[in-house]
Amino acid sequence: MNLNYLKKDVDITELSNFKTKAFTKLYFEIRSRQDIDKIYEIALYAKKEKLKILFIWWGTNLLFAFDIYDWIVIKNCLQWWTYDKNTKILESQTSEKISDIAKKLEYDYGQDLWHRFIGLPWSIGWAVFGNAWCFGLETEGNFKEAEVLDMYTWKIEVMDKEKVKFSYRNSIFKETNKYFIINVKFDLNEKNEKYSSDVDNIDFRENKQPKWNSGGSFFKNPAKELSAGKAIEDVWLKWYRHNDTFFSEKHANFLINSKENWNWQDLIYLIDLAKTKVKHKFGVELESEVRIIYNT
Ligand SMILES: Cc1cc2nc3c(=O)[nH]c(=O)nc-3n(C[C@H](O)[C@H](O)[C@H](O)COP(=O)(O)OP(=O)(O)OC[C@H]3O[C@@H](n4cnc5c(N)ncnc54)[C@H](O)[C@@H]3O)c2cc1C
Repeated sequence: MNLNYLKKDVDITELSNFKTKAFTKLYFEIRSRQDIDKIYEIALYAKKEKLKILFIWWGTNLLFAFDIYDWIVIKNCLQWWTYDKNTKILESQTSEKISDIAKKLEYDYGQDLWHRFIGLPWSIGWAVFGNAWCFGLETEGNFKEAEVLDMYTWKIEVMDKEKVKFSYRNSIFKETNKYFIINVKFDLNEKNEKYSSDVDNIDFRENKQPKWNSGGSFFKNPAKELSAGKAIEDVWLKWYRHNDTFFSEKHANFLINSKENWNWQDLIYLIDLAKTKVKHKFGVELESEVRIIYNT
């Protein structure tokens, strides 16, 4: 098997929003439809060598908790989208940024159904994967179908809403991690929201959210009546600093790394500290929303 397209010993610090210093032993970028065929080849190799594969879009939901990743990182760079004004069907490759699409839909096509997604980081792929949520608007609402590669059967299939099984910040993709999402389609004919909101989301993103390197809300809310931010505040960890890492003073559930190329151990220290203190005070487990990648 000739896998000379795999790059060796690549610096992937910039591929996670936390910007912790990190390398991977093997790296591949998907830049064309043909490159998707290579996933099968890479997966065969990975199976033989007992290597794991990590897929990345823009890395805002990933924290690299390693110095060197011994396995294979595959970054999906496929970007192209189209919107049909007559049918109101939007089709996109999954690395496109959902915020850019929402902006263009509004300015170029007068389609403002996704106004609340302006400013939402990052890929439209993840918005489906994690059923992204902004002030009552969820990706699920207008989702039509996804073209995916099933990593068990190696077949490409089209999955509709029923098969995707969306729930709060979740889908079958996130639940099973067995699909590579290639393309997504939305039907933007009808407003489908959980509740309506006239919040100024652009101002919210600009002025009310911390701007540092973070993964957005770090923990899931542990209970309906207890948000993760409130729990962290109540155990006095809001703006608690550990070297150059801290929980933001603007939003306690935003874990921040204020220095590029910083080590991941400081972030893990703060995560564990918050978990221990919240468990002690409230008797609940904090579970991370951000996916922490270890080298194990
Ligand atoms: C400042 C900030 C504010 C945020 N606010 C919100 C908010 O209001 N509402 C909300 O819902 N979310 C919010 N988030 C979370 C945000 O939506 C996600 O971090 C983001 O969408 C992840 O996109 P990404 O392209 O960076 O995905 P990545 O982090 O690159 O990947 C995420 C996951 O997808 C997997 N993956 C990558 N490629 C593929 C593929 N082709 N097929 C299948 N799986 C794949 C990865 O392995 C990983 O597990 C916020 C995040 C930040 C940083």
